[in-house]
Amino acid sequence: MAVSTKNKIYLSSPHLTGEEQKYVSEAFSTNWIAPLGPNVDQFEQELAAYVGVNHAAAVSSGTAAIHLALELLGVQKGDSVFCSSLTFIASANPILYQGAEPIFIDSEPASWNMSPRALEEAFSFAENEKRLPKAVIVVNLYGQSADMDKIKEICDTYRVPMIEDAAESLGATYKGRASGSIGTFGVFSFNGNKIITTSGGGMLVSNDEEAIEKARFLATQARDTARHYQHSQIGYNYRLSNVLAGIGRGQLKVLNDRVQARRSIFSIYERELRQVHGIDFMPEAGYGKSSRWLTALTINSEKTGVTRDEIIQALEKEKIEARPVWKPLHLQPLFKDCSFYQHGEKDVSKQLFEEGLCLPSSSNLTEEEQAYVILTMKQKLGI
Ligand SMILES: *Cc1c(COP(=O)(O)O)cnc(C)c1O
Repeated sequence: MAVSTKNKIYLSSPHLTGEEQKYVSEAFSTNWIAPLGPNVDQFEQELAAYVGVNHAAAVSSGTAAIHLALELLGVQKGDSVFCSSLTFIASANPILYQGAEPIFIDSEPASWNMSPRALEEAFSFAENEKRLPKAVIVVNLYGQSADMDKIKEICDTYRVPMIEDAAESLGATYKGRASGSIGTFGVFSFNGNKIITTSGGGMLVSNDEEAIEKARFLATQARDTARHYQHSQIGYNYRLSNVLAGIGRGQLKVLNDRVQARRSIFSIYERELRQVHGIDFMPEAGYGKSSRWLTALTINSEKTGVTRDEIIQALEKEKIEARPVWKPLHLQPLFKDCSFYQHGEKDVSKQLFEEGLCLPSSSNLTEEEQAYVILTMKQKLGI
């Protein structure tokens, strides 16, 4: 185990193939070092084809894509937006950029994703108040799709558009359809820790051609068609660089392998640890296939005799990066005044946060490294 103890083992690290170089070199040799160019156009088309959506706009981050989606749906000051609570802050920050109010929705135990029951409750309350949200942001957590048919049916009943935050679920499926392809808008991220990366980047997808055209317009400072620089509305500098889009094109070619690798990593953890009384893995809901972007599990310290944080510390000592499950947004100081709808009697997302652990899941994690992570955990658990 000497090798594993020397190198730090990351939660989710970039995994390049060498294919990326070809597209990046092309950008250099043709002098397309700009936030537009052939790699950007091709990356958009290739990603749209992969997820089975007609149109895509490449942008500088997943956060930017969510922001543009909200802008396109007309979200503004005084509006409210429903959003999954158990997620990374980036899902909800753009609601604040628009001056709107986030309202958080709890998780369901079966998928750890947005609870249709809590969503329904939030909607009926909002309807009574005559204040329906302008949009619903549904997050597909750790590589797994939320229960989209149920959620979409509720959104459709109230005629509210759905944004699918698929930043963590590129490569996953829901009832055979690509994750991120179901909402009015889908959002992907190519940050360094995601399943494929451009070092930083994002994509907004939709079947609405006009909306995607508008997204590109807004992402390039909302410049009117005129020779002089003319602007009639607020815009952003959100386009993806042609160099980075080249990395994305190379990465997209191996996406299916990356999903396979992460799923195998998950099954090895599960095989080795599932018999531990008090450890439960994030379930895979029957309606789809998760990419298992991160292997997540819960540790019930009463049953295991060890807390989640003690496990993290033990791993840290061995230079292994592990993290708690996202701290739910309704528990964040930033959102302390926001409403939250929970899944029945229990705050599911809070419990997942208190007991949840994410383990190293990089697609380039070696067998030896993973064995070392498992060994370290078993030692701490005393088994
Ligand atoms: C990573 C992530 C984002 C944001 O993506 P960036 O490209 O880092 O801006 C949004 N939502 C979720 C759920 C994420 O995990």
